[in-house]
Amino acid sequence: MTPIYDRVALIGLGLIAGSMAIAMREQGLAREIVGHARSAETRRVALEIGLVDQVFETAAEAVADADLIVLAVPVGAMAAVAEEIAPHLKPGATVTDVGSVKQAVVSAVAPHIPEGVHFIPGHPLAGTEHSGPRSGFATLFRNRWWLFAPFPGADEVAIRRLEGLVEAMGAKTERMDAAHHDLVLAVTSHTPHLIAYTMVGVADHLKRVTESEVVQYSAAGFRDFTRIAASDPTMWRDVFLQNKDAVLDILGRFTEELFVLQRAIRMGDGDHLFDYFTRTRAIRRGIIEAGQDTSAPDFGRSQTGAEQKAEG
Ligand code: NAP
Repeated sequence: MTPIYDRVALIGLGLIAGSMAIAMREQGLAREIVGHARSAETRRVALEIGLVDQVFETAAEAVADADLIVLAVPVGAMAAVAEEIAPHLKPGATVTDVGSVKQAVVSAVAPHIPEGVHFIPGHPLAGTEHSGPRSGFATLFRNRWWLFAPFPGADEVAIRRLEGLVEAMGAKTERMDAAHHDLVLAVTSHTPHLIAYTMVGVADHLKRVTESEVVQYSAAGFRDFTRIAASDPTMWRDVFLQNKDAVLDILGRFTEELFVLQRAIRMGDGDHLFDYFTRTRAIRRGIIEAGQDTSAPDFGRSQTGAEQKAEG
């Protein structure tokens, strides 16, 4: 394939940037891929395993002469990185990010972007509970949504070029307002993660009573929670701090529903529980029909890409 960008600079070299690098290489989508990560160790690994052609000690050096700059650091680190790179961005370049929250990233990054540089906020709905430069794989984005939140009046050619890049990596694209994105993700990803963290925390507390039984007899439901709750602590701390309002809104609704179910159990209202579970089952069917998961009884874990359930 003809390269879509000459030089791509990846700032942050973990799961998402690593997967992008591998996918871009496989498809020949960039002539050159360079990168920066905070630690010398991550930079060394990224170079050693061939994620990037060159690494730089600073983000500022990495973005010089890049046509596309991808901010792939935790959401809470975006502002400092944007401030550092701003004076070194090439006119006409595109800056995008892959952060799991959009409004906070837009507020953190946009003020630093100079005139003549296109800033197109983005978020791939793809991930695993693994992190770091060795965790990436080429098919991470295949058949997954990659949402973009361009500003009104943003350069259409720059947007289409970026959408073309992620589509060539196998993703499906959609445009969405940043506030709407944050609410949707609070429902589909952020609050479910918080519930998983809580449930594993409860079991951890219980373990002290039952010793190893929680681990030994952990059933599929609990095992799924533990996998989600193994996700990167820095990333998820930042997600909750930066998408506070939407998460608190959804958590409030969740708590109300939980009390209704709690009451139905206490009152022996089987009809209520049955009807509720019938409705939720239909949602699961909808997700499978939309091609966003498989109906395999092992939760699709044995299939490529089916690890992708801990996305942020
Ligand atoms: P990751 O595997 O933990 O990688 C994060 C990278 O950022 C590491 O290379 C880290 O470098 C670097 N970094 C951290 N702080 C930095 C700083 N202040 N300056 C420069 N580099 C810094 O994370 P990830 O899963 O790829 O996530 C990256 C972004 O993608 C996050 O914004 C996250 O919200 C978003 N996202 C994640 C998922 C998911 O499921 N994981 C899905 C969609 C979007 P060191 O290794 O040297 O610390």
